[in-house]
Amino acid sequence: MISVFGSANMDLVAYTAVVPGRGETVTGHAFRTIPGGKGANQAVAAARAGAATCFVGAVGDDAFGPVMRDTLAGAGVDVSRLRVVPGSSGIAHIVVDDDGGNSIIVIPGANGTITAPSDEDLAVIDRSDALLLQLELPMEAVVAAARRARVPVVLTPAPVQDLPRELLGAVDLIVPNEHEAAAITGLADPEEALKALLDLVPEAVITLGAEGALYGARTGRPLRVPAVPVRAVDTTAAGDTFVGALAVARAEGRPQEQALRFAATAAALSVQRPGASTSMPTRPEIEAALA
Ligand code: ADP
Repeated sequence: MISVFGSANMDLVAYTAVVPGRGETVTGHAFRTIPGGKGANQAVAAARAGAATCFVGAVGDDAFGPVMRDTLAGAGVDVSRLRVVPGSSGIAHIVVDDDGGNSIIVIPGANGTITAPSDEDLAVIDRSDALLLQLELPMEAVVAAARRARVPVVLTPAPVQDLPRELLGAVDLIVPNEHEAAAITGLADPEEALKALLDLVPEAVITLGAEGALYGARTGRPLRVPAVPVRAVDTTAAGDTFVGALAVARAEGRPQEQALRFAATAAALSVQRPGASTSMPTRPEIEAALA
């Protein structure tokens, strides 16, 4: 089983030719609500990739809460540890212009009310094979979960920010993308950044978009995992799909290189379809693409 302690957001996306200035009103041409949040996305990715998955987090008591709960449950995620708290759900308010440029306001809402996993949450987390964390909950909550969990901790350091020593000391595997790895280490070269990350945590994967990924551990040589060549239409949540699938493959005891190939294959399938959770492949789809 995989546990995810993280964020659930509703993306509210307005598409418009003209982005309004202050005091201005414009007419846009489309609107979409897309359930997301890195935590919820990783939970959906893990469940679709074939693992029993539990999401620990919070939504608000607004109209979006039930939609997010249903999206998780519909993907097969256990939502028994999903709390409903008074006030707004986590929201990403996004304006996309005709050139594809965007401006985004993120409101943490319910995610921002989480200060730590409860004892009941930890009881579930400690029955799983791995705990997946990201940085869309308050840092104190992420640190508390990492330190108190007795199972391997996988951290996606996004959105990137300073990582407290007490967090790094409790992380087993860190999975930044290229930009996050550079921000954390101050090193633009992925191979150099990988070495620096391994001074901080025992294992690291740097994802490199269409270039694949680079894995390293404190012992043994680094592994380069090529991306599966595909025509990408939407790379939203490629990283979350990669992490969810990687956790599943590792929990099943697959050898490192196979686990990484499984993750890269799942991520490659996701970039060929639009959307975040809607684009994540199922286990049979991943197996078919691997065969
Ligand atoms: P993030 O979405 O966090 O920025 P990346 O862009 O590095 O992360 O993508 C994560 C993984 O998704 C990559 O390691 C790769 O396996 C896969 N991926 C991303 N973009 C592509 C692409 N254009 N073609 C094939 N695979 C891709």
